[in-house]
Amino acid sequence: MLWENLREEEFYGAVEQSGKVCVIPVGCMEMHGQHLPVGTDTLTCGYIAEKAAEIEPVVVFPKLFLGDVIGLYKWKGTVTLSTKLMLDLLTEICSEVARNGFKKIVLLNGHGGNISILNTFVRSTMQTKKDYVVMMRNDFCYMVKHLAKDLENGEEFPELTEEDKQYVLDFVRNQGETGHACINETSVMMKISPETVRIDRVDAVEGRSTHQADALYEAGFKECTRFWSINQPNSYHGTAPYGANERIGAVLLRKRIEAQAAACRLLKKDDRVLEWNEEWNRSWQSPEL
Ligand SMILES: [Zn+2]
Repeated sequence: MLWENLREEEFYGAVEQSGKVCVIPVGCMEMHGQHLPVGTDTLTCGYIAEKAAEIEPVVVFPKLFLGDVIGLYKWKGTVTLSTKLMLDLLTEICSEVARNGFKKIVLLNGHGGNISILNTFVRSTMQTKKDYVVMMRNDFCYMVKHLAKDLENGEEFPELTEEDKQYVLDFVRNQGETGHACINETSVMMKISPETVRIDRVDAVEGRSTHQADALYEAGFKECTRFWSINQPNSYHGTAPYGANERIGAVLLRKRIEAQAAACRLLKKDDRVLEWNEEWNRSWQSPEL
């Protein structure tokens, strides 16, 4: 159920059918090498949210193309909001979603750089009493490295040809680099939105790490954006995925969609999340609610 497609009177039934769960896909707009569109993360998590909702019915809010890409100004297509505005935006959207009856709100994150701000936001929602709970879940939970392991364990993948299987196994065994706009995202986009992928531009810019910031990472400075873009100056991290294709993308998506549907199924039937929130509210001194 897509929020924007529901008529007013349908919201009552949608709240009930979704077990009060509403999923908000959150991505960003950011360069993905020269072969993938800037909206890759958002298009992907939006697709996963929608397909998972067809398996386990929940309401999906319109996907947010705005995410945390602070510091990535040198690339065209990036749209950066201040941290304060992002937090205010999420606060007001979730408040409105909850006012419409959805008390279990899932931020389905499609962008690695969003993890910090979404965790901060989720924690900020616990600073005042609320009659709803916000949770974050990353959509990028199944990659070719997982696929290679499952292939080695003998799992069947009817989507793949023998050549695809060999390519994935060789890519992982040869320690092909992955991270951003790599074989994972390229394969997925070839399935979701093939018209936006320019596989002939896959090596237009270098995707392998410069390793300039490695020593800082290893010393424990995990600060994401600045060091990441030093190592990945083209917002692209991966060995050029010449063998990426829509069949590999279909497997990665199926696994992620199944995981998202299972997570929603669990959340729908488990009202302890709301009971724990009430306990949390009672532990507060201030009588706001
Ligand atoms: Zn991405």
